[in-house]
Amino acid sequence: MLQAPEKFQMFIANRFEPGLSGEQVPVLNPSTGAVFAQIPRGNAADIDRAVRAARAAFDGEGCAQGPWGRTTATERGRLLMKLSEAVLRDQELLALLEARDCGKPLKQARADALALARYFEFYAGAADKLHGQTLPYQNGFTVMTIREPHGVTGHIIPWNYPMQIFGRSVGASLAVGNACVVKPAEDACLSLLHVARLAAEVGLPPGALNIVTGLGSEAGQALSDHPGIDHISFTGSPETGRRVSQSAAAHYCPVTLELGGKSPQLVFADADLDAAVPVLVNAIIQNAGQTCSAGSRVLVEASLHERLLERLAAQFERLRAGPAEQDLDLGPLVNRKQQQRVWDFLSDAQGSGIGFAAQGSVIETAPEAGFYQAPVLLDNVPAEHRLAQEEIFGPVLAVTRFRDEQEALRIANGTDYGLVAGVWTREGARQFRLARQLRAGQVFINNYGAGGGVELPFGGTGKSGHGREKGFEALYGFTQLKTVALRHD
Ligand code: NAP
Ligand code: MG
Repeated sequence: MLQAPEKFQMFIANRFEPGLSGEQVPVLNPSTGAVFAQIPRGNAADIDRAVRAARAAFDGEGCAQGPWGRTTATERGRLLMKLSEAVLRDQELLALLEARDCGKPLKQARADALALARYFEFYAGAADKLHGQTLPYQNGFTVMTIREPHGVTGHIIPWNYPMQIFGRSVGASLAVGNACVVKPAEDACLSLLHVARLAAEVGLPPGALNIVTGLGSEAGQALSDHPGIDHISFTGSPETGRRVSQSAAAHYCPVTLELGGKSPQLVFADADLDAAVPVLVNAIIQNAGQTCSAGSRVLVEASLHERLLERLAAQFERLRAGPAEQDLDLGPLVNRKQQQRVWDFLSDAQGSGIGFAAQGSVIETAPEAGFYQAPVLLDNVPAEHRLAQEEIFGPVLAVTRFRDEQEALRIANGTDYGLVAGVWTREGARQFRLARQLRAGQVFINNYGAGGGVELPFGGTGKSGHGREKGFEALYGFTQLKTVALRHD
């Protein structure tokens, strides 16, 4: 018997609400292609209500005098710690929701829920450890700096890692005392709506956290345009990121952009292949390649090329994609549009004579209407080709050969992106040289952490965006610095 789709609601001032228009957006399960839920189609008026709720929580009758604005750093830390514990308690429920909503294999969904708890835990501990300084100045003065919250922050979250990206941006922003308005991707809201329930349960005051569901072009655009927003954290595509920046600029609102990458891993002839190969494979198949920091390019020294390719191919042939609940190496892609995008790149490879060196498989019992894509290993991809230049956001690994270190560096730095890079070599001086010369926000030597490390500052340069999130560094971005000069002579 067919079940009616479950209706979810948006979250404003600690209340779940249907949205002013009463319209719904269907939610698909990527593993089956079937609609299983509905979310409200939030519009500009809903965003306005959410911003007002956040402003009341932060400002109250005057600047930072609302119930959230008055909360001490220690109290905020305690609330975030309780939220972390509630997420851990409900980890399995969150993982199941995420698997159904986004097609993540269960072990990935569980890891994301755990990371969300870790973000809240990390920022809970950090909340009362952020402080200003006193500065030397003229005689008769005491000068100090004070770190203050922006006020109300907007968070536009993509569908690839909703829980992790929510944790890193909303966790840090709440820790320093901002009130938050969140617009999750229409393809990935359900786990975040459950986190909202947990936030109310642990006692976050109404308005400190608000989540408006709906379409990017409506609710997302309205959030970027809203003059009541003091800072925006955006993660997603370069095109939408640019649009959000332009909208925010109209009201002088600072924006942090995390826009993905085409991250290279450089493998030199002296690399420890036993250590490298599983990491190289995981860096592209994790979350079916839908990871901003996916290691989507492998650059290999010519003399090692054949040996490495053989090892990679053997691994790729064994990889299996299937429904999220079956917890295989890969789940489906998030939606039909993403599947079509990957197909377009792969047909371009075939048209350009780029060989499929190996391919995994989609299990036979996987539902026909699911958005599956077997992982593909492409060999000898020219460095200038679009397959080596553009973010595919699917399980497609491009291998390119290099002659020497200089050429490796030129190819590695030769895209518009600069998010993450990996280097595999035993030579110490080369490790340091490349760590300094690679154009990336994070460089991993003899390891690779696609998205890993709650504690590690993360962000890019160029088309990968700007600003840093994660780690303690994020707290600086979610605050502004005030200098106070006191004359007392
Ligand atoms: P996208 O348009 O950049 O979506 C990212 C977020 O922005 C979503 O929450 C989206 O909401 C919202 N959004 C869309 N239009 C908006 C607007 N005009 N104003 C404000 N917010 C808006 O990305 P996509 O279309 O889902 O994916 C396209 C490509 O982007 C992917 O193939 C991939 O290459 C890249 N991508 C990168 C990342 C990353 O982590 N770096 C994440 C996702 C996608 P809705 O989803 O509800 O429209
Ligand atoms: Mg979905």
